[in-house]
Amino acid sequence: MTDCKRLSGRTVVVTGGASGIGEAAVQRLLEEGAQVVVGDINLAALRRLEAHIQGGSCAGRLAVVLCDVSQESDIIRLLRHTIEKFGHLDCMINNAGTGGAFEPLIETSVADWDRTQAVNLRSVFLGTKHAARIMMRQGEGGSIINVASIAAMSGGAGGAAYSASKAGVVSLTQTAAVQLGAHNIRVNTIVPGILVSPLTHRNVDPEGLKNLAAGTLPLPIAGESKHLAPAFAFFASDDSRFISGTTLVVDGGAGAMGLNLY
Ligand code: NAD
Repeated sequence: MTDCKRLSGRTVVVTGGASGIGEAAVQRLLEEGAQVVVGDINLAALRRLEAHIQGGSCAGRLAVVLCDVSQESDIIRLLRHTIEKFGHLDCMINNAGTGGAFEPLIETSVADWDRTQAVNLRSVFLGTKHAARIMMRQGEGGSIINVASIAAMSGGAGGAAYSASKAGVVSLTQTAAVQLGAHNIRVNTIVPGILVSPLTHRNVDPEGLKNLAAGTLPLPIAGESKHLAPAFAFFASDDSRFISGTTLVVDGGAGAMGLNLY
């Protein structure tokens, strides 16, 4: 059963929170009482989220900001809006991402490579940097959660640009955890396995997803965004107060069996 009080009074920013994994996290954080600010580039999805989010009986409050997380000025604006609206920042979830260039390495253009790094990795650098500055000024610590992928750990689960960007997220998280620990700021990575979501529908052979759904993973469950949500709530809460620089893989056991989608 969800503990309604665990995140009450906490302010959490979720990038890419208008769809998929981010949206499921937003739902869970609201249920646990948090004030949530969603930054996303998709205006229609933000409007839909505002209209339909169901927080349950212990729901926190939701605000949305249209922004492009690859742009430093947009990240600063997102966080400024958060402070204006709720007065505090306790947790930053750098979740927004793109499947990016999925073509073979030898056909990947410089433009595709750069765009993928900007949306998946530069955004995490910017979100970590500016959230940490605010948390350091507040002087009460905080939690930063960065979203990578099993593609960071395997050559068979994503395109070259995507996999490299997500490996960068894991590395950046470790450096940030070391440099920010003295300020009681925890920085952790959540690594989703392959899930049935809008992102994978755009990039992965539907037959591959169907096979996963048929139970080819060690756990006989087709991964969905909702399976990630408790991990976000855990890292946003004091339950993870002694955990930093770690990588939590939520993949139904895929990594253990060396999943290869190609
Ligand atoms: P999704 O496409 O459903 O959601 C991504 C969200 O990010 C969307 O709302 C989109 O509008 C937003 N976004 C994209 N570019 C943006 C930008 N420049 N600025 C602001 N917002 C932007 O995808 P998802 O499956 O929910 O993926 C969320 C995260 O999880 C991503 O970082 C993705 O790489 C990672 N991931 C997903 C899977 C999976 O199977 N779905 C697996 C591993 C990792």
